[in-house]
Amino acid sequence: MSRKPIIAGNWKMNLLQSEAKELFEGIKSFVKDYTAPQLPTVVIAPTYTSLCAVESVKCDCGCGKNKIYVAAQNCHWEKSGAYTGEISVEMAKDAGCDYIIIGHSERRQYFSETDEMINKKAKAILAGGLIPIICCGETLEQREAGITDEHIATQIRAALSGISSEDVAKSVIAYEPIWAIGTGKTCDSTEANRVIKMIRNVVKEVAGVQAADSIRILYGGSVKPSTIEEQMSQSDIDGALVGGASLKADSFNEIIANTMKVSV
Ligand code: PEP
Repeated sequence: MSRKPIIAGNWKMNLLQSEAKELFEGIKSFVKDYTAPQLPTVVIAPTYTSLCAVESVKCDCGCGKNKIYVAAQNCHWEKSGAYTGEISVEMAKDAGCDYIIIGHSERRQYFSETDEMINKKAKAILAGGLIPIICCGETLEQREAGITDEHIATQIRAALSGISSEDVAKSVIAYEPIWAIGTGKTCDSTEANRVIKMIRNVVKEVAGVQAADSIRILYGGSVKPSTIEEQMSQSDIDGALVGGASLKADSFNEIIANTMKVSV
């Protein structure tokens, strides 16, 4: 089954509105030479205050797709209420988002997000008609202790618990070994592919073969223009969640261009 690749840029807590706009313009001017079917699914995730400084870019070839989609970096599962500092799925949608990243290791580590919270967020996102990008990954200690697969399988089973197979099929998972995030140490592509295959097997077990074949599973962790071709050549890696290299139009655009060389 061929799955359309996704290249998603996680801008984290970086860039003022004017800087976000400038980066957005740099990506927009690159994608203008292509149609959406030629491109991977391109997603940008600015910080909340810059969501309105960027916008999704529709394709004009009649395919009905976007050349650029916008994502929020987090959300709350409730629709509204006394949750100071949070935003709802509807608010993210209202600000132009089609995707929402959840369960990033930085949220799990610094803001004590649990698997249960991530599951509630995934359900709220899907109920609101948006697509969750569900992050998972192991620490270096877990890898060295030989419990990588067990840990990730637990995260995925919990995140997808109670979600219909149809909704699982639309979702996106990002496998991001924590020791590879922002460290410059990319996980070996064959190892990343092995873990991603394991994740796909867990999806098959919880949501069936069709969902496992359709769900897009990305790799994240120090992805660069020089690493993406090898990563995209693997059987089960369906794209990348990119942090540092998504903060400059040149490197992000090169990652998109190199993805197109391998498969779209
Ligand atoms: C991330 O935080 O999602 C990420 C993958 O960061 P980086 O590419 O900088 O490692």
